[in-house]
Amino acid sequence: MIRVYSHSNPFFVYNAKNILEANYLKVELRNEFSAGAVGELPPTDNWLELWLFDDIHVELAKKLLRCLDSPSPSVDWRCKNCSEINGENFDFCWNCQQ
Ligand SMILES: [Zn+2]
Repeated sequence: MIRVYSHSNPFFVYNAKNILEANYLKVELRNEFSAGAVGELPPTDNWLELWLFDDIHVELAKKLLRCLDSPSPSVDWRCKNCSEINGENFDFCWNCQQ
């Protein structure tokens, strides 16, 4: 078994599962019911994960899922203090800490 996909938005993971199953790859979802643990574990530990049964198909699986990695709508934000662009995962400006 090998993990081939994970995302904070379960919709994308279900979509990935559908894509692989449509190509006759056997997959399993993990963390499907761990949302209740949010706040106690690092956020990425709660992401829904897609695991592939046969490691031998991992390259095919990744190729099929490549379309899911196309740029998503940017949610970067600009600091009001110094105008620096910050990634969505930053709560504070990395440049001026505002
Ligand atoms: Zn700033």
